[in-house]
Amino acid sequence: MEKNKEDQLRLEVVRGAKEIFAKGLVEAGEGNVSMRNGKKEELFITPSFNQYDTLKKAEIVHLNFEGIPLSAGKLPSTEAKMHIAIYKSRPKVQSIIHTHSSFATMLSIVRKSIPIIMEEMYIFLGGSIDVSEFGEAHTIEIGEVALNALGIKNAALLANHGVIVCGKSLDHAVKFAELVEKLAKMYWGALQIGTPNIVSKEHLDRFQKLFESLFANYPRHMWKNMQKKL
Ligand SMILES: [Zn+2]
Repeated sequence: MEKNKEDQLRLEVVRGAKEIFAKGLVEAGEGNVSMRNGKKEELFITPSFNQYDTLKKAEIVHLNFEGIPLSAGKLPSTEAKMHIAIYKSRPKVQSIIHTHSSFATMLSIVRKSIPIIMEEMYIFLGGSIDVSEFGEAHTIEIGEVALNALGIKNAALLANHGVIVCGKSLDHAVKFAELVEKLAKMYWGALQIGTPNIVSKEHLDRFQKLFESLFANYPRHMWKNMQKKL
């Protein structure tokens, strides 16, 4: 029974990886997708130098939160430490996706956060998409800077690197990764032709319940500290 469940999670990782590849959010060898293994301190993650078009269930790596592989075969993504840091700090998160999608990464290079330019951003992601401090790839440090940039929200830009999103399901994470790139493209375009207008807080308050009930995945104790950062 347990084995079936774990196989199911491996298949979910493959499905998520194929979806973000099909949507053009990643290219071969970059980005990664993971799923938490139920109540255990373990995850399933895409392998290092992942080939999305040929990716199979057997290539998905089973890891514990110490970073030790529990499966033979491929090595885990080198960014697994960032995923682990987020799972440890956010017990409700079931799936994490990291991409290097182009428009979002361009904004991360000039360290431009995306303010709330559309209402859906508040509903799905919880507010603006902020840029992290620079964190060296493949280290635990990047997990910490990612968590700081996330705050109570579901998406952040990683300075000079890409995107990190987390969700209560794989489908949420895929949706968020796609939305971040769409918003980055729109914001970039808007900056080319004028001064973007930001959606005001008073228009957003009515969506707070939607975010909280459907998509929020931060631990409740963070709410008071982070509310002002929205
Ligand atoms: Zn990366």
